[in-house]
Amino acid sequence: MKYVVCVPDGCADLPVAALGGKTPLEVASMPTLARLAARAEVGRAAVIPPGMPPGSDVGNMSILGYDPARFHTGRAPIEAAALGLRLRPDQVAYRCNLSTVGDGGTMLDFAGGHPSTEAATEVIEALDAQLGRGAGADIEFHAGVQYRHILVAPADWADAVCTPPHDLSDKPVVWPTGPAAAKVQAVMDASREIVGSFGLQANQVWLWGQGFQPQMPRFVDRTGCRAALVTAVDLIRGLGVLTDIERVEVPGATGWFDTDYEGKRDAALRTLEAGADLFLIHVEATDEAGHAGNLEEKVKALEAWDRRILTDLVTGLDAMGPWRMLLLPDHPTPVELKTHTTDAVPYVLVDSAADGPGGTYTEPATAACPPIPGHELMARLVRPTR
Ligand SMILES: [Zn+2]
Repeated sequence: MKYVVCVPDGCADLPVAALGGKTPLEVASMPTLARLAARAEVGRAAVIPPGMPPGSDVGNMSILGYDPARFHTGRAPIEAAALGLRLRPDQVAYRCNLSTVGDGGTMLDFAGGHPSTEAATEVIEALDAQLGRGAGADIEFHAGVQYRHILVAPADWADAVCTPPHDLSDKPVVWPTGPAAAKVQAVMDASREIVGSFGLQANQVWLWGQGFQPQMPRFVDRTGCRAALVTAVDLIRGLGVLTDIERVEVPGATGWFDTDYEGKRDAALRTLEAGADLFLIHVEATDEAGHAGNLEEKVKALEAWDRRILTDLVTGLDAMGPWRMLLLPDHPTPVELKTHTTDAVPYVLVDSAADGPGGTYTEPATAACPPIPGHELMARLVRPTR
């Protein structure tokens, strides 16, 4: 039995006025998904446990079968793991966005105009030279991907309340509060001169998502499955590192609208053919479209999933033997809200050898389904065949 997990990040949405009250999933042309759903189990999953922030870290931890209420310690330590950083118990990791904050204190772009990784790395190296290790300070800047980087600091920096910058789009910024806020604020303030000197759209760092590194049991020990994943997002890669799931790199995976959908699909088929039991395909484009409030790109990204991944993925899986598929996002990113919500999301669980009751994979069609905890779906995906 082969298993595939498909994660269109943030694809769930709300009724959109411009679509006559329909959601992007309702209007997108997704014939393969519709065909799968018609013979599958379709329902609703609470991927964000009550009281937890609706981040991709929390949602994807659920999808991998780990209860975030038990294992989640913060977003940044997961991304730090993706960079190969093993934190000591006396260290905390912060997510360090290159961001654009207007002179009036408005969050103009949480992604700092999406700098290239090369350009961003130069900025992060300058920050580490002038504010971090190069200056003899006890903080370290580590370059990640595009606008997403890591700051490692002493443990007593952890005690601050920081706002995710993507929750502040086009709004007045909310500065950190709490006992460690002054230190965090000082770094953000000092970063303006350094970041600003590079002539990018980004003009300062934004620190948030801090935590200590979590202890997660290996995925293979919990499920018996040798697993691999593909993603362009450090966070998902970090969950792979922490759970010992192999990370497959696809050169054209960008984390943006132009990502290499076919490359991810082919990586899945190739890896499963080579002996892996389970493969997770993560695509960020739907989430970025939601954050940008870009309805057209969100629908296009959904249609790309269907045409460029699912159709030939199913054909390839059929050729390998029996298979199961789980498809769901890690949280909604509604285009009219431009940020994540905690609402339960639709899921579809397909078994190539056993038809389910069948359904339709949209938010309204699953609205009446009682939500099940998201982290329970993985055990159901890989359950033994009777
Ligand atoms: Zn997400």
